[in-house]
Amino acid sequence: MVRDQPLGEHVLPAQAADFVPDEQRDAVLHYYGVGGWGILWKGEYLMTAPYFSNHGLLASSTCEARPDEDAIAHGFAETPYRATKVILVGHGHVDHAADIPAYPLAQMDRPTMIADQSTLNLLGNAVRGQVCAIPLPAAVPGPLPTDGDCSTGAFRITPLPWAHAPHAGLESVGLYATFGAPQGAQSTPLCEPPKTGNGWLVGRTWAFLIELLDGERTVFRILYVDSAASPAFVAPWPPLEDDPIDVHIACMPDFDLVTGYPFDLVRDRNVKYVLAGHWEDFFRPRDRSVRPVAVLSEHEMNEFVLQVEQAIGQPTEEHGPVNKTDCTVGKTCGPHGSTWTVPTPGETFRFRTSASPDTASP
Ligand SMILES: [Zn+2]
Repeated sequence: MVRDQPLGEHVLPAQAADFVPDEQRDAVLHYYGVGGWGILWKGEYLMTAPYFSNHGLLASSTCEARPDEDAIAHGFAETPYRATKVILVGHGHVDHAADIPAYPLAQMDRPTMIADQSTLNLLGNAVRGQVCAIPLPAAVPGPLPTDGDCSTGAFRITPLPWAHAPHAGLESVGLYATFGAPQGAQSTPLCEPPKTGNGWLVGRTWAFLIELLDGERTVFRILYVDSAASPAFVAPWPPLEDDPIDVHIACMPDFDLVTGYPFDLVRDRNVKYVLAGHWEDFFRPRDRSVRPVAVLSEHEMNEFVLQVEQAIGQPTEEHGPVNKTDCTVGKTCGPHGSTWTVPTPGETFRFRTSASPDTASP
C-alpha cells in the first residue's frame, strides 16, 4: 500500500489504443517497468532502455544472463516501438542495458542511441551497427543538436551528469545486485555483449532532460533518472530556464541512502508531477505477481511520496495525466495523488502539453 492505496498486482498488457491521444498536443508516456519508459510525441517514439528479462539474483550477478526473447516480445507488444527515434540509456547495469542486444532493432529505422561510452562498448558490434550512437560524455554540457547525423526529431535531449546510489552491500556474500555494483567501466568495445550479469558494468551514470518540441518551441519537459542520487554530489548541470519540469520520472529504490533526493531535486527544478518508477522487484519474472523490490519497504515508499508532496505543495492547476479519471487503483492504475503516481508496469499515461491544439500535428 502507498498512501493507503494498493499497488498494482500484475503487469498490465499494453493496448494499442492507449497510444492514440485524444488531442494531437497530448504526449503519451508508457511505463514498461523498472527504468523503461516509452514516450510518444508527434508520431515519434523515445525509449529509456526497457528491461523485461527480469533475471534472478544469480543470473544478475555471477551466472549467465541471456535475454528472454519471449518476455521482450511480450513487453514490446502493442507499443509503437517500430517508430523508435531515440533510445536513452542511463547506465550500464543489467536491469537497464542487458536486454538491448535482443531488442527488435531491425524493425526500427536506425534509432539514435544516447548512452555512456562504457555502455556502448558493452553492447557489442551487432547493436552498434544498428543504431546511430552518441557516446557520452561527448558534446556535454548542453542540449544535443536535434538534427544532423544522429537526429532526435521532435525530442531535444540534454544529458546531465548524474550518479548512482550506493548499493545494498550484497558483495559481502559474493553476490552483486544492481544497486551500484558491479562498478567499473568498459574502456574498449566488446564484440559480443557480456554473458553474465556482473559483466554489465555501471559506467558513468546519466540523467536526461527530454524536451518535447513543437517546431522550435519546447512544450513539455521531462526529467528522467534511472537511479537515485544526491543532487548535491552530482556534477553541476547547465542551468535550466525558469520553466518547470512538467514530469520527473523518478527512481525510488535507495533514495534513503542519498541526501536530498527526491525533495531537493523536485523543489529546485520546479517539478510539477512525479512518476515514481523502478519500484518493483525486477528479480521476479513479469508473469508473476508484482511486488516491491526488497530494498524498498512500504514505509520508504510512503516517505518518498511524502517528500514529493511537500516539495511540490498544493498544485494551483492540474498537471497530472488526463486519462486517469475512471481508473481503478491497484487494477488499472497505480496509487496516485494530485502530484504523483506509483505506476503499474504496463500502465500508460497521457499528459497535455502546452502546444496549441492545431499546430502539433505529426
Ligand atoms: Zn544500477
